[in-house]
Amino acid sequence: MERQERLEKLKPLLYDVLVLLGEDPEREGLRKTPERWAEALLTYTEGNMKDPQQHLRVIFQLDEDDYPLDSDDMILVDNIEFTSTCEHHLAPFRGVVHIAYIPNSESRVITGLSKLPRVVETFARRLQVQERMTQQIARAIDEHLHPLGVIVVVQAIHYCMVARGVQQRSSLSLTTARRGIFRTKPELEARFQEYLRLRMHDHKT
Ligand SMILES: [Zn+2]
Repeated sequence: MERQERLEKLKPLLYDVLVLLGEDPEREGLRKTPERWAEALLTYTEGNMKDPQQHLRVIFQLDEDDYPLDSDDMILVDNIEFTSTCEHHLAPFRGVVHIAYIPNSESRVITGLSKLPRVVETFARRLQVQERMTQQIARAIDEHLHPLGVIVVVQAIHYCMVARGVQQRSSLSLTTARRGIFRTKPELEARFQEYLRLRMHDHKT
């Protein structure tokens, strides 16, 4: 179904919801709300229509001399901001993603650094749970780049917790996903954590 058609079908649904809430959908402030809401909802879920592969298809290869066979150097992009929608309450959750991967020393395949935030966005713009989103990001990188390992850490604040009176206004949820060598070599995760700490320190000074 085309976006415009879905938009037209969504609008009257919120109109009815507003009536059920005891509102007057015809009053000035609400008149355009069903349309805005439908637009917003389609944007929040537009990742459904996108394949992360479109971003990870662009790959580069490091030279053999530049990335010897025994390398386990990591490529890290931290603090990738995202906003997603919790599928249990349709409430936003937002936060940051930290990603590191270690290229495969035989294929020496890497992707553009700017592609990782794109992959995050593709998965964030869906109805989500944080745990699954974390795994999906790791899996996409694993499947498309075949690295030696990949680790993804997501820190988020959930507005369903903040707003429903659960009284967890400053509680952060943290989820991790590890693939490949990150599962077997804990010292690599320690190195990753150390980089993140350095970055935090860097940020403060
Ligand atoms: Zn929720």
